[in-house]
Amino acid sequence: MLVSQILKSKGSDGVVTVAPGIAVSQAAELLSQRKIGALVISVDGKTLAGIVSERDIVREIARRGPSCLTEAVSTIMTARVVTCGKADQTDAVLQKMTDGRFRHIPVVEGAVLVGLISIGDVVKARLMELGMEKEALEGMIKGF
Ligand code: AMP
Repeated sequence: MLVSQILKSKGSDGVVTVAPGIAVSQAAELLSQRKIGALVISVDGKTLAGIVSERDIVREIARRGPSCLTEAVSTIMTARVVTCGKADQTDAVLQKMTDGRFRHIPVVEGAVLVGLISIGDVVKARLMELGMEKEALEGMIKGF
């Protein structure tokens, strides 16, 4: 399955992006409100500046205490973001996530952000694919 198929099945909700200057507490609030695990950091909503996940916030609070909540989210984001393209296979994306130990991956076309998929999206798509393969194989066996 292709990344583009996952994006299509997710609908056109868009990606939640925030400016690098917003406070860590605002990022936490947004993650909670939108029930998501990561935010793409972007100045213009199109170009990636970084990514911040709930893990970054928890780690920073554990390390430095609640004082980090008033700081800019850019101080705790991951700036080297691993991305994928719409034409990538989901298996390859899952491999990137496993190798890099992260659960979110922005989808880009050129340098422009066009979507974001989570490990949950990939696992869901893979399970659907396996289910269809199983049905097809059972059909073939029963047909003989
Ligand atoms: P996650 O598993 O997505 O909650 O993220 C775990 C760690 O990886 C956090 O430090 C994130 O900032 C970072 N991270 C998340 N997604 C990516 C990505 N696509 N590329 C690089 N780092 C990421």
